[in-house]
Amino acid sequence: MSILRAVFDFLYGILLGCRHDRLTRPFTIEQQTYKVCLDCGKHVFYSPDTMRPLSGRELRRMHAVQSVELKVVPAASTSGSLHGENDSRAVA
Ligand SMILES: [Zn+2]
Repeated sequence: MSILRAVFDFLYGILLGCRHDRLTRPFTIEQQTYKVCLDCGKHVFYSPDTMRPLSGRELRRMHAVQSVELKVVPAASTSGSLHGENDSRAVA
């Protein structure tokens, strides 16, 4: 029976992808709480307050907050290069 189970799991994995059956314990790194699938490496994000998987809406909100935080860094670097261009125009 274990051979049939292994064949079924193999075909299921090919047709439908990983089922994420083997997950680590939830842990928090850089304010993100998630489990990791030991088979495929997918991150399953959790709410640190309720310790339940995040819904799609909560996950999009979390990514939106992170993207806003990331946009601050390029804005500072581009403004610095703009000042450099303005200085070169002033010289020329
Ligand atoms: Zn998986």
